[in-house]
Amino acid sequence: VKLGSVSSLSDRIRVCVRKRPLNSKERKKNESDIAHVNGRRTININEPKVKVDLTRYVEQHEFIFDEAFDANCTNDDVYRRTAFPLVEYIFDGGKATCFAYGQTGSGKTFTMLDSKDGLYVKAGRDIFATLRQPQHSHLAAWGSFYEIYQGHLYDLLNNRKKLFAREDANKQVCIAGLTEHEMSDVEQLMGIFEYGNNARSTGATGANADSSRSHAIFQIVLRNKKKTVGKLSFIDLAGSERGADRGETDQQTRREGSEINKSLLALKECIRALDLDSKHTPFRQSKLTQVLKDSFIGNSRTCMIATISPNIANSEHTLNTLRYADRVK
Ligand code: ADP
Ligand code: MG
Repeated sequence: VKLGSVSSLSDRIRVCVRKRPLNSKERKKNESDIAHVNGRRTININEPKVKVDLTRYVEQHEFIFDEAFDANCTNDDVYRRTAFPLVEYIFDGGKATCFAYGQTGSGKTFTMLDSKDGLYVKAGRDIFATLRQPQHSHLAAWGSFYEIYQGHLYDLLNNRKKLFAREDANKQVCIAGLTEHEMSDVEQLMGIFEYGNNARSTGATGANADSSRSHAIFQIVLRNKKKTVGKLSFIDLAGSERGADRGETDQQTRREGSEINKSLLALKECIRALDLDSKHTPFRQSKLTQVLKDSFIGNSRTCMIATISPNIANSEHTLNTLRYADRVK
């Protein structure tokens, strides 16, 4: 990579990686850590491999992103270098989206939607502080929280009521009947979040955390009396591991897997199209990309945080995540 070639890419898309620490189970098993963050942007993976004659060797991979967060980085560190610039941007009338992408257990929820310390809280705090400035007194912040599960929308602030997305005459997509609460401080925002979080979908299989099968979307919208002027969405995506890898055999869970795959592939294409100013953004390929349409056109910015597990047993998932993130930009 030539010096400067990454930074010359547009600000509209930022792609970052975050490595979580080894957890106690992994440490107890003495699993090795195969992910190494070097400097502020580079991550190296030492992939264990076996030849046909059964000799072992290590294949080295290197990826360069806009930011690389090491295991000792805090959510504050991550916030400063990812979502924080988006807060300023929505006060200028933009639509901004922050995604967490990665395997189940890699830190998506911890990063984005941890109830007390996730990026959504930190952004909320800065948004309310900005709203208290006199030049923004005509604006109010509204919160909504919904989930996409098997291609359907569910309102987490209204008993998981099923909702439908509609495109109006101006080709604007809206979710009809989505609950929105006006919020005036961070305590209210956290209260709304907590209420919705208790309603998140629960899958049937035991091994995985329930939330691994759905995309959760927490949105903060800035409005004046008449219309929406800015929007910031925090998206905790469904686990990126393929359905087949989850050891799931029944039809229901397989269908979930392919639905998730479809939406994650469509997401990649839509983000890429953002950078190319393409006329052919494939919004309609999934519910996720359809409801995020206004985040992929016009005044919009996207930040993707790819989260990875550092242990050797997850090397394949980790490489899949890094390759996906690499292709987004
Ligand atoms: P995901 O949402 O991707 O399935 P989680 O966010 O639930 O993963 O994280 C899995 C576990 O790892 C949780 O117990 C979480 O607290 C912990 N964890 C994740 N990322 C970090 C981190 N950067 N530092 C410390 N613990 C983390
Ligand atoms: Mg999660």
